Amino acid sequence: MLITRRLEFDAGHRIPNHSSNCRHLHGHRYALEVTLSGNIITSEGAPEQGMVMDFAEVKAIAQRHVVDAWDHAFLVYAQDTVVVEFLRSLPGHKTVVLAAPPTAENLALEAFRILDAAYRDVYGNQLKLERVRVYETPNCWADAVRGQDPSLQGKG
Ligand SMILES: [Zn+2]
Repeated sequence: MLITRRLEFDAGHRIPNHSSNCRHLHGHRYALEVTLSGNIITSEGAPEQGMVMDFAEVKAIAQRHVVDAWDHAFLVYAQDTVVVEFLRSLPGHKTVVLAAPPTAENLALEAFRILDAAYRDVYGNQLKLERVRVYETPNCWADAVRGQDPSLQGKG
């Protein structure tokens, strides 16, 4: 069974080597969709009976580990040194420095890495993160899927 929870956040970014609009400093209303696989919990009387995971808990984990860190932050590529230095000159600015340019693809991979460590099989129902989808706009998104990217190690 697969379940998905969607969260939204606002963030700034720029793609420094982009040939068009995305090289400018700008922002997006991002959406993050977290898909988990697992067996339906059948324990009679358990609060999670009939569920893979309580959607509130799916949300709380993604919120705590990704959305709280990225919402209203500027997401910047570590090699984009002019912008990194500028952001560091702003007192208390919320900046997230990433090892790769902040495209939807790289944000999906980064969120997958963070969340793969955060969703644990606490119910014994084989709960596992399967996919993280990041929408940069309503029409453009990227999927980080377990087992489909060399940088994402499966955990069985
Ligand atoms: Zn953009």
